[in-house]
This record gives sequence, structure tokens and C-alpha cells, in this order.
Amino acid sequence: MRLILLGPPGAGKGTQATVLSETLKIPHISTGDIFRANIKGGTPLGLLAKSYIDSGKLVPDDVTIDIVANRLSDEDCASGFIMDGFPRTIPQAQMFDEMLGKLDRKVEAVINIIADDSIIIKRLSGRRMCSCGKTYHIANNPPKVEGKCDVCNSSLYIRDDDKEETIKERLKIYHEQTSPLVDYYQKKGLILNFDGTKPIEVTTREILDSLNNK
Ligand SMILES: [Zn+2]
Repeated sequence: MRLILLGPPGAGKGTQATVLSETLKIPHISTGDIFRANIKGGTPLGLLAKSYIDSGKLVPDDVTIDIVANRLSDEDCASGFIMDGFPRTIPQAQMFDEMLGKLDRKVEAVINIIADDSIIIKRLSGRRMCSCGKTYHIANNPPKVEGKCDVCNSSLYIRDDDKEETIKERLKIYHEQTSPLVDYYQKKGLILNFDGTKPIEVTTREILDSLNNK
């Protein structure tokens, strides 16, 4: 199956991608990962992308699509893929359709994981970290003594990424980027919506059931 995965930070998208990839036996393609791999491997496309990133510019869509096309030509993508982090914009989605079209292929479903902002904020902003590597959640997995690690008794801290203002900003960007994409794929009848506030395994089951029924 050729799938695209959409979902806000904190809605369990990464976990879903991993489980779906194992169950459906198709690779999970995170564009962040393939960019890093190309840059690390010093491929011509990687070097080109790096030149933009180093000068603080966005990597142009045609470079991004080439990097994606390259990855999709690998043998493990023959029976499908789960795209994560791409496309991000309508022009990218159109270029992606065009690219797949040339291979006589198309996107078969867009999995859209939905969760209310307030729930995500509660989830993420409750995380507490310890320098020893142990993690806590003030509601779901609290330490025995507030603010102190059970293992090493150090003071717990909040990651910058988990600060409420940062989460709100990330969610705002996510919604701005994603809603036009949802409309685009909705018009093609490809959107499947799922509730990301349910337990992870329940959502996984629902996703697999609805893909089976497609
Ligand atoms: Zn600790």
C-alpha cells in the first residue's frame, strides 16, 4: 500500500508508523531521515540540499521531490510505503502525484490522526525528564516525590520542546501546513480520519481495519 501519514506532534504518529510498517511490511519513510542519510552519505542531492540548509534557506521542492523519488526507487518500496513528513505543501503534493503517476502508481490512502490541541498540550506539557534518562508524566506516570527522580533523586526538568508555548507554536504551524493538504486529499477521497486520543493499540487496530476495507 502507498500511504501518507498525517498527525500532530504528540498524537502517537511515530509509534503508529512503526507498527504499521511492521504489520504491512512496507517501509516507514521519514523525509527527515532520508535528508540526513543523503547529507551524511554525501550524495549529489544531499550536497545540494545541504547548500540550501547551510545558507538558512528552505530546500526547494524540486530537490526534495528528487530525494524522495530516489528513496522510492529502492527495492523495499516496491510494494508500498508510509510517507511521514512529506508532502507538506500543495505544490509538493501535486509534484508527488505527478511523480507517482509517471510510474503508473498513486497514493492509496491518507491516514489522518486527529487529536484536540488541549489534549496534546496536556499530554506533552506533563512530561518530566531526569538527567539519568528516566522520564515521567505528572498525570500518567508521576514520580513518588513531586519533582524528584525515583531512581537518582535528582530534580526533574521540562524539555524545551515540551514547554506549553513551544507546543502551541508547533501545533499552530502543523494546522496551518496540514489543513490545505487534508482538503487536497479529501477531494480525491483518500482521507481516513482516526482519533489519536485513544490508546495507541486501539487506533492501530482501527487503521488496519479501515485499510483492509478499502
Ligand atoms: Zn534520575
